[in-house]
Amino acid sequence: MRQSQLFTKTTKDVAKEEVSKNAQFLLRAGYIHKEMAGAYDLLPLGLMVVEKIKEIVRQEMNKIGGVELIMTALQRKELWEKTDRWDDNMVDVWFKSELVSGNEVGFGWSHEEPMCDMIKNHISSYRDLPVYVYQFQTKMRNEKRAKSGLMRGREFVMKDMYSFNLGKEDHTEFYNGAIEAYKKVFDRVGLGDDTYVTFASGGAFTEFSHEFQTVVETGEDTIYLNQDKSIAINEEVLNDKTLQELGIARNDLQEVKTAEVGNIFNFGTAKSEQLGLYYTDEAGTKTPVWLGSYGIGITRLMGVLVEKFADDRGIVWTNREVAPFDLHLVSLLRENIKAADELYEKLGVAGYDVLYDDRPDARAGQKFADSDLIGIPFRIVVSEKTLDQDSVEFVNRKTKETELVSIKKLEAYLTTHV
Ligand code: ATP
Ligand code: MG
Repeated sequence: MRQSQLFTKTTKDVAKEEVSKNAQFLLRAGYIHKEMAGAYDLLPLGLMVVEKIKEIVRQEMNKIGGVELIMTALQRKELWEKTDRWDDNMVDVWFKSELVSGNEVGFGWSHEEPMCDMIKNHISSYRDLPVYVYQFQTKMRNEKRAKSGLMRGREFVMKDMYSFNLGKEDHTEFYNGAIEAYKKVFDRVGLGDDTYVTFASGGAFTEFSHEFQTVVETGEDTIYLNQDKSIAINEEVLNDKTLQELGIARNDLQEVKTAEVGNIFNFGTAKSEQLGLYYTDEAGTKTPVWLGSYGIGITRLMGVLVEKFADDRGIVWTNREVAPFDLHLVSLLRENIKAADELYEKLGVAGYDVLYDDRPDARAGQKFADSDLIGIPFRIVVSEKTLDQDSVEFVNRKTKETELVSIKKLEAYLTTHV
């Protein structure tokens, strides 16, 4: 993409009430636009990153048998009443509205209820199971505080997967497979080393649910961690009983601030019984389906990546799988612009997704500052000076290392460096 076609402008300052680092940089670099606290528009660069994260998650969910669909955000009161989750005293994040006829509707903050209700039409016999479905869906939650930018929105993108199994054994096998799939997702986005499977509250037939918590100073959660044993416990379940069960002493755990990037739950058969989701087994007996649910905060992940890896100059994307582009080609040429155009084309043919700063009137300092702010992992600078040596400058955004690379050898160089 030519930067001259990208309508978004970078800015030096953002509104004072925007306190979080991720929102500040994403706003300044033109990835997002703020509508109100907790509600942001995804501008072209922001949408690219979200789509890239989604693609990683999609691939890993498909590998474990997931099938993608998408459900409506509008929720029926009667359905959620069956599981006692309509009442604001039970769920305190509902956004609700009403139809012209006066009937109440809710905006989905999670989708277990409609998912189970929908799937009833497609599951009747043991032969119909298992089923694993997922979606990328915009959730609405009337959060009390929304001061962490994309890390806590009132509207945000979540991947939610639901597993429907015959019984405990199959359910547990899939659940454990989902943990491994989640680890791959967090590895691929570049958070693998700092993300811990964490014991948390909320399991139905086991005591715990599992959260995926990423260490980040400004995180809203607190966990207790033993890195050597790879044991992490959310403060909400840190008590003598948990410590004993997990065979660890309080003194061997260290308190760290984290952000919850994913959360997986087992519901056992409780919800299926409430909602009437049954199948007939081989003997012809009516049996409730085993349910699990598996969330990943897609837009929160984007916020965490910025929050964690940005430096004083701007965003630093961890790798090309999440960055909006693979390369930032910055041209400082005033004459012989064709040389940069040719390079842009050549890189495209070689399979790189390139943002090409072809803006004719921007100064070098401005272009470098913008490039630092936008944070594409690698930058290629072409100028009269580099062309005199038949070369370009290759810059690593994170380490700031710079190398002069001959244009002839550029493609070979990129295959080992990008
Ligand atoms: P939290 O404790 O942070 O409020 P939660 O436990 O209510 O989150 P879940 O219902 O488990 O969240 O949702 C699944 C995932 O969706 C979370 O692990 C998180 O990554 C993401 N998520 C939840 N709430 C928000 C939000 N307000 N903004 C952005 N992402 C969110
Ligand atoms: Mg959670």
